[in-house]
Amino acid sequence: MTSIEARPTLDSTLFIHNLAEVSIMTPAPSTLHPLRAETIGDELAFIWSDGQESFIPLEKLRRACPCAACGGEPDVMGNVERPHVSYGPHSFELRNFRFVGGYAFQPTWNDGHDSGLYTFRQLRSLNENASA
Ligand SMILES: [Zn+2]
Repeated sequence: MTSIEARPTLDSTLFIHNLAEVSIMTPAPSTLHPLRAETIGDELAFIWSDGQESFIPLEKLRRACPCAACGGEPDVMGNVERPHVSYGPHSFELRNFRFVGGYAFQPTWNDGHDSGLYTFRQLRSLNENASA
């Protein structure tokens, strides 16, 4: 006999309708994850579970979109050949964002694009590659 168990809601998503501070569900304690995220000007700020803060310019975040349409998928050699992606006047404006399943960050841009799922590791590396 099967039954549906009540489970913790780790897999649920938290939809953010505004860009105030957010709290997310906590994944495994050993996993680096953001505790809070908010936009500050044209950057997205994260506070991480290890106490680090990162600031990622929205344009940089959008250009790094990992979805297939933006060319974020590597080929068999591991090379990422990004196709030409055209951006509109609203492409670098963040409409809202949410955390998905305790492992990824999904922004919705003002041009309607929302298919990019950024892993927390990718978010961290975006900041660490920053020249500023
Ligand atoms: Zn994309």
